[in-house]
Amino acid sequence: MTVEELRNRHVQLLRDRRGGGPPHPPARPPPPPPAHPADTAARYHTWHQVAAEPRSALLARLVDVRVRPAAYRPAHLREQQRTLDALQPEVLHLARAAGWDTTTPVLAGVFPTGTLDALSVPVPGRGVLVLVNTALLDLLGTVLKIMTGALPNYGTPPLLTSEQASYALAEAVNAYLYGNGAVEARRLPELSGQRAALVSLMARRGTQFVLAHEVGHLLAGHLLHARRRTDHHTPVGALDAQSVGWPREHEADRVAAVIMLRTLDDLGHRELEAHEPCLVGAVLLVLFLHEVTDRLADELGLTVPFAGNHPPPVRRIQTLVEHLAGHVRTPRALDLAADVATWLEGQLGGVREWFRLVDDSLLGGPTSGG
Ligand SMILES: [Zn+2]
Repeated sequence: MTVEELRNRHVQLLRDRRGGGPPHPPARPPPPPPAHPADTAARYHTWHQVAAEPRSALLARLVDVRVRPAAYRPAHLREQQRTLDALQPEVLHLARAAGWDTTTPVLAGVFPTGTLDALSVPVPGRGVLVLVNTALLDLLGTVLKIMTGALPNYGTPPLLTSEQASYALAEAVNAYLYGNGAVEARRLPELSGQRAALVSLMARRGTQFVLAHEVGHLLAGHLLHARRRTDHHTPVGALDAQSVGWPREHEADRVAAVIMLRTLDDLGHRELEAHEPCLVGAVLLVLFLHEVTDRLADELGLTVPFAGNHPPPVRRIQTLVEHLAGHVRTPRALDLAADVATWLEGQLGGVREWFRLVDDSLLGGPTSGG
């Protein structure tokens, strides 16, 4: 019953805020119902097609996301909500299995919060609404696809060249930073076999970690000590969140890690050797993406909503890696995460280059289009 009440509250909040509150400055009218080109569910059908359009067309797609308001697509939001509906009870179940229990109803709902951290919103007398950035789910899934498509570790020959991967990543980050939680990068083709299995597992694990972190705040009693903090720079204008202080944020990361690692308890050694690196890689990927998008946002002069609520991602990564190193059970558990970090860092130059071209194009300056 109360979870349903939370669901109603979530739908109400979405209705109130989408185009309702003051959006990013400059103020602009609510987006029109027909989706604009970058917001249609256009997709690549083969891997050869990825970033194979003329350079000017690729650049125009990036520019378009920056200059035109995007419409939320109900089908997109519903698809993401289904993902959260499947994962939220799972996370509470895992928490119970790890020895934590709560009678407080929790509902995870998609919301354009503009931050990679989920936001816990206590609803008095009802429970806790956990708002998960619409753009986070898109970014996580797309980056995983690009990575498994580009790295030879996951199958040879790779599905994407380094140049294709750079553009695909630039488009994903551009949509994340400028798409107001409504724009998706052009969808990549479906993967198959081992790559598909890895992406779906890691996307699920990464999202579970985001939810488990919020559940961690609830289970550890942090929300009782929280202060309300309002941020005016979210895609939907002013939004409230609970601020609990950095030490409790680190604690929530640890609780989440413990909850997640418990899921491996029943595995034999062979399975553990396969699954533990994926779990650790997925958990840390969320924080790597946090770090990378924060850094790029800073370089681009963008405000990251609720930035001070959590410790800087670099600190969270260090602290969590130390914690994980003491709790993992297989020698190569951290290897995949290290590969992911190295790959992501190596791609940044290409992403920055695309962003520079967008800047030039918006300033009417020279571009190397063609
Ligand atoms: Zn937190």
